Amino acid sequence: WMSRRKLIAGNWKMNGLSGALGYFSELAPVAAGASADVLVCPPATLIHAAVQACAGTGIRVGGQDCHAQDHGAYTGDISAAMLRDCGATHVILGHSERRAAHGETDGDVRAKAVAALAAGLVPVICVGETLAEREAGRAVEVVARQLAGSLPENSAILDLVIAYEPVWAIGTGRTASAADVAAMHAAIRERLPDPLTTCILYGGSVKPGNARELLSLADVDGALVGGASLDAADFSAIIEAV
Ligand code: PEP
Repeated sequence: WMSRRKLIAGNWKMNGLSGALGYFSELAPVAAGASADVLVCPPATLIHAAVQACAGTGIRVGGQDCHAQDHGAYTGDISAAMLRDCGATHVILGHSERRAAHGETDGDVRAKAVAALAAGLVPVICVGETLAEREAGRAVEVVARQLAGSLPENSAILDLVIAYEPVWAIGTGRTASAADVAAMHAAIRERLPDPLTTCILYGGSVKPGNARELLSLADVDGALVGGASLDAADFSAIIEAV
């Protein structure tokens, strides 16, 4: 696991930042001194500006979704190649909000991941159980099924990232306990085709106050941060907790 570099990723969701330039100038020195890679995933309309603002800082910029096709008659959609063309390096796929609100299935996520890899993007594939599934004792079974269905097939050595995000911990202020996170990350790792090098992030109400404990767990290689990534000081504190 020593060879896995940590990754702190921010997901702005559908939020523009009027102070985006100030945000990146505050983040840049933190990212430069960090022992983790830093990724920011703004809405698609801001990717180009973010890439320009981050030039030379080492901060990576990613998308929040992509279409499985390269181009064509898909009104409103954006392809992985288009994200790559405007300077993105990563794309979040299968976020629980997209699985819930857009009916994305594991098969859809897999097709998008294949497209992302073909375009040279690193897919950040999200998995996670609902509260009802956890309370029914089915959390590992659900996540294992999502992994089996969402990861590209024949994926011996692929440059991809997994984000474990229990649905009940996203945007709720509730985080999973360290013991639950450790157990789930270990369960995920043993199901990965390339367990030694694949980075597994935790996501769900990560804040400056809980980041250190979560990031110190053996199988936690970083965090996917929603709400707290909108504030440069909070996001910086999470990066510095690595
Ligand atoms: C997310 O949406 O990926 C997320 C983890 O959100 P939050 O940090 O706000 O819970």
